[in-house]
Amino acid sequence: MVDLYTYIVDVPDFPEPGVVFKDITPLLASPVAFLQAVDEMAEPFLASGVDIVVGIESRGFLLAGSIAERIGSGVGLVRKPGKLPRAIVSVTYDLEYGTDSLEIHEDAFHGGARVLIVDDVLATGGTLAASKDLINKAGGDVVGATMLMELKFLNGRTRFSDPLHAVLTY
Ligand code: AMP
Repeated sequence: MVDLYTYIVDVPDFPEPGVVFKDITPLLASPVAFLQAVDEMAEPFLASGVDIVVGIESRGFLLAGSIAERIGSGVGLVRKPGKLPRAIVSVTYDLEYGTDSLEIHEDAFHGGARVLIVDDVLATGGTLAASKDLINKAGGDVVGATMLMELKFLNGRTRFSDPLHAVLTY
C-alpha cells in the first residue's frame, strides 16, 4: 500500500486566484497508486448491483473505466455541452458566477439501470447533484457516488443523499 496523498499536488491560484487546484496527474502516472486508488474507489460498491459506472467529464472518465472493470459493469459518459453525437437530455445548474450544463445520451440507460457516479474531486457538490438529476432524467437509478477526493470544508456532501465514498479527504 502506498500513501495516495503523496501523489496529489496542490497548485495554488489555479485556475483563478484563491483556488487550490488538486492535480491528480502524478497519481494517474503511477501504476501502483492508480491501481490502489481505483481499487479503493470501487470496493464499497462491488456488491451494489451496479449496471453502469458513469464518469463525469473529463478526469472522471479516466477513473470510471477501471472502476467498471472491477465491478463488472458498463461505462457511461456525462459530458460538457455539444460533445455527444446523438439525442441528449441535459441539465443546467448554477455556478458561483453564471451557469453550466451537462449532457447525456437519452438512451444511455435501458429503463432503470443502476448507476454509480464517478469523479475525481467533490468540491461544492454542484456537479454531482446536477449529474444525479441528469441520470434520473434519462431513466437511470443512482445507487451512489465514488470520488477520489472530497474537499470537506466545502460541504458538498450535503447536496447528495445517496451513499457517497471518498478515498482521500481534505
Ligand atoms: P463541484 O461541482 O464544486 O463539486 O466541483 C466538482 C468538479 O470541479 C469536479 O469535476 C472537479 O474535477 C472540479 N474541481 C472542483 N474543485 C477542484 C479543485 N480544487 N481541484 C481540482 N478539481 C476541482
